[in-house]
Amino acid sequence: MSGSESSSNSLIIPEGINYECMGCGKCCSGWSVPLTAPDYERISKVDWAAKNDKFEGIELFRELKDYEKKGSPYTHAIKHGDDGFCPFLVNNLCYIHSTFESKTKPSICQLFPYNFNETPSGFVSTVSFVSVGAVKNSGKALTEQRDYLETKLGEFKALYPDHHPNWSKIELVKEVPLTWNEYLEIEARLLAILSDGTKSLSLRLAHMSLAIVEVYLGKRGSSLPESQKQIELNRHSLKKSDHVLLRELYRLYFPERLLNRADMNFSASKYMLSSFASKLGIGSPLSLKVPGDSYSIESVKEVAFPSEEVLEGILYRFIYQRIFGKLYFGAGYGQLSLMVGFHHLVAAYVLLKLQARAVSRSRGFKAVQEADLISCVRMLEKRLGDSSLDGYAAAVVELELQSHGRCLRLLSIAD
Ligand code: SF4
Repeated sequence: MSGSESSSNSLIIPEGINYECMGCGKCCSGWSVPLTAPDYERISKVDWAAKNDKFEGIELFRELKDYEKKGSPYTHAIKHGDDGFCPFLVNNLCYIHSTFESKTKPSICQLFPYNFNETPSGFVSTVSFVSVGAVKNSGKALTEQRDYLETKLGEFKALYPDHHPNWSKIELVKEVPLTWNEYLEIEARLLAILSDGTKSLSLRLAHMSLAIVEVYLGKRGSSLPESQKQIELNRHSLKKSDHVLLRELYRLYFPERLLNRADMNFSASKYMLSSFASKLGIGSPLSLKVPGDSYSIESVKEVAFPSEEVLEGILYRFIYQRIFGKLYFGAGYGQLSLMVGFHHLVAAYVLLKLQARAVSRSRGFKAVQEADLISCVRMLEKRLGDSSLDGYAAAVVELELQSHGRCLRLLSIAD
């Protein structure tokens, strides 16, 4: 089916992805829960202070600013407390839910962490890795939750009636169009390479990049010599220009503090200035920041990244879900071409591994701890959802991340 044909309504569910809520309450922090007008009316009319002293004198809601309302179904938000948690989280339980019932909660909380993306093949379902339960793959397989997912899809359609991403203009690289069927063939190839457990995950990603290059060359009537199909990541190393790019992506995905809306985009102007400074020999390499400290890439690499099934599984599913859910290119992410969308995902994976090392190191460990990887994955997933790539920023990313060589250099620091 081509991207221009009308989309099917079928629900497509990933294999090997499980979910159940672990009741940890962590999903209820770090964001101001947005409310639709009916949510606001339903929840704000309750006299919460009369039910629990905790709410006495607290301003629970705020109206969204015009730019926040634009293109969204939301009108208000719940104000989070100074600790970053939603004020309705009481003893790790949602007070709205426990006082009334699930249906009284904000629509977005009822839907969370289920996520849907309309494509020409149907609605692709995933679970948000902001949820600890999703990251840990806890509970029943999504494939065994079809009826429940159908209900959630109904809620998603009601909440986002205007969600109709346009997949008719996808590109392999800039100005090389791709049909939807061509994309599906490439995706099947990418997922086959991704599932090849005989190679390290970083090497699999390198081969996935190579597979896209091969499609590109095939379209131009040429092919790669056999010698270039052999990849050894330790033969590559970062250039100064790679540090500039990583620094800007790191600022977006692992910020030291919550970013305001103006800072959530990839800053093309900051990037160009840093690039210029780097060419003049000014500018520092990427450093990884944790509260109260910062580390060089070399020093965090002293922290081992165990190739345990648990840690590899988290990284594998993070990549798998992004690809299966079409959340990395075209209408799924910043209208990037497939090649650049994939390389951007690789850059995010590399930064994720470095940051997990930095956090574990700051806690005195010599090897990455599962809890640290989980917190970094949750942060990255959230930031990928909040940040945007538009206009000039998307054009700069498109230019800077199209190179397979750069992808190999970035991956050379992942392991
Ligand atoms: S309203 Fe309830 S479910 Fe939603 S974030 Fe707050 S405590 Fe969590």
